[in-house]
Amino acid sequence: EIRTPMNAIIGMTELVIDTPLTQTQREYLTMVQESGESLLGVINDVLDFSKIEAGRLELDPRPFALRDLLGDTLKSLAVRAHRDEIELACHVDPSVPDLLTGDSGRLRQILVNLVGNSLKFTKVGEVVLDVQLAAEPQTLPIRLHFRVKDTGIGIPDEKLKMIFEAFEQADNSMTRRYEGTGLGLAISSRLVELMNGQIWVESELQSGSTFHFLADF
Ligand code: ADP
Repeated sequence: EIRTPMNAIIGMTELVIDTPLTQTQREYLTMVQESGESLLGVINDVLDFSKIEAGRLELDPRPFALRDLLGDTLKSLAVRAHRDEIELACHVDPSVPDLLTGDSGRLRQILVNLVGNSLKFTKVGEVVLDVQLAAEPQTLPIRLHFRVKDTGIGIPDEKLKMIFEAFEQADNSMTRRYEGTGLGLAISSRLVELMNGQIWVESELQSGSTFHFLADF
């Protein structure tokens, strides 16, 4: 009931943008579209978070191809990286099996959050996603180690733990400069927990951050 009308607002705006319009009308509608998309993002976070609080967030495991999923996920983020002239790269170790069973939608959500944050907090340099086996490939479940490394602003030591809590941002004065709800990492940590893994971060101010998580497939 909350999401459906939002999708209609965004979809219909997109249709109108493709019709003959004056320059000003097009600018206004582009603003409606962008605000609609960002509001939908906030709504999705709040809905997920309320599910977590109610203990109702569950995974939906199915077979998927890991490299295709990573490619698709990064493609959607590449537009932003390109616009900001940040290099976005992905490396998957050849020993990582491709056909896995797991909740690919939720894995994508974690990656979009981590890579999206890295892009948001990096002005120059690169964001690299790296995937390796965390345990011998012969043993089931397959345990993977994901790493998202950036050359961004970094996170002060005293904030490293706090940022995984709901509504927390490293520097509240930055919320205006960098928009966001402070829910992304809280949701990602819960999802990683459901995948029997853990999430942590290493960071150095002004030189960058590396977010790590382990997950079973
Ligand atoms: P949001 O990004 O919506 O504020 P998150 O839960 O995703 O919420 O992140 C919480 C906070 O952690 C961010 O506001 C930011 O202060 C800090 N943070 C997360 N990722 C990074 C990063 N790659 N570099 C620097 N700071 C980060």
